[in-house]
Amino acid sequence: MIDSFVHDVPACRVVFGAGSLDQVESEVARLGGERVMLVAGGPEAALAQPLERMLDGKIVARFADVTMHVPVDVASAAEVLARANDVDLLLSFGGGSATGTAKAVALGTGLPILAVPTTYAGSEMTSIWGLTEGQRKTTGRDPRVLPKTVVYDPELTVGLPADLSAASGMNAMAHLVEALYDPAVSPVSFLQAEEGVRALASALPRVVADPGDLSARGEALYGAWLAGWALGTTGMGVHHKICHVLGGAYNLPHAPMHSAVLSHATAFNEDHAPRAMEAIRRALGSAGIDAPSAAAGIYNLETIIGAPTALAEVGMNREDLDEAARLVVEARPTNPRPVDMDGVRALLLAAYEGTLPRVAAV
Ligand code: NAD
Repeated sequence: MIDSFVHDVPACRVVFGAGSLDQVESEVARLGGERVMLVAGGPEAALAQPLERMLDGKIVARFADVTMHVPVDVASAAEVLARANDVDLLLSFGGGSATGTAKAVALGTGLPILAVPTTYAGSEMTSIWGLTEGQRKTTGRDPRVLPKTVVYDPELTVGLPADLSAASGMNAMAHLVEALYDPAVSPVSFLQAEEGVRALASALPRVVADPGDLSARGEALYGAWLAGWALGTTGMGVHHKICHVLGGAYNLPHAPMHSAVLSHATAFNEDHAPRAMEAIRRALGSAGIDAPSAAAGIYNLETIIGAPTALAEVGMNREDLDEAARLVVEARPTNPRPVDMDGVRALLLAAYEGTLPRVAAV
């Protein structure tokens, strides 16, 4: 039987393929961009150099002070620069931090975004924005921040180091896992999320073994696209709530933290979302990662690719676990298994220690 569903996918044009950076010029023109602000920092700024020549004078402002979790003062400096230069299009180039900075400007100005992602974070496919002030991270959804066009070029990810690729890939995997057990997941989103799990599980071991393998990079970026789309079109559960709390309160690195929590959050839900768990096991199995449970399969994949499996290794302090558990429970995530203090405390302790998740009775 097909359950009732609402399938609500906002329009966003996707241009995918090795070498598709060359299409940015025509995509800028398609959006009517004449005065472009390039948002790119860190190593991505150097990677974005070809755009300067390609856009032939259309880049009238450059914002390079890209900072993880978009502090409000960074967002406001970027917005001031865009307004001062009478910008008509934001061109974000980089990981989730660059995309997030452009989104913050779009939130304040309504300017359109063309996004060129260089990690697997997936922000480019969502209407979710995030800003931090002090220790507090605020997120929301607003259609104005969804990029109008996304250009995915696997060649741009070849320089993403193996450890960042592995962690970022597991960040994408987390979007897929939680989409699969979202109570409102549509039949199409379910298929797409399962395919995303398969693509990432197939690609990430090859990416880590040879970061220059363009075929593996293409499949990983394809999985990341599906994951971003899943994040944008479904609700997320306890895993994302934990990462939201830990990222905001303890400033843990985004992608490694997602990786460390994911197998343990999956084990937490294992007996409460059988259809999703079966899909995850099936997808991992078809990528050659066989395991007796979805959680164990994710843990095995992380071990193979060297992605973090323990919060202790990404900077979490053991004495903060009680407070973190309280913050997660107070946030009342929608989740297949009811979220209570004892359960979340045990989940966080397992994630802190990085113990192999228990094997569900299957
Ligand atoms: P990031 O953008 O900070 O990038 C991580 C590191 O990788 C940085 O040092 C960056 O300079 C480097 N890097 C990126 N691409 C590279 C490349 N091709 N080669 C070499 N180095 C490269 O981190 P992220 O994990 O991509 O994104 C995390 C941020 O995105 C967080 O703030 C998170 O909250 C946000 N996010 C938002 C959404 C959303 O829907 N709003 C979704 C996912 C993530």
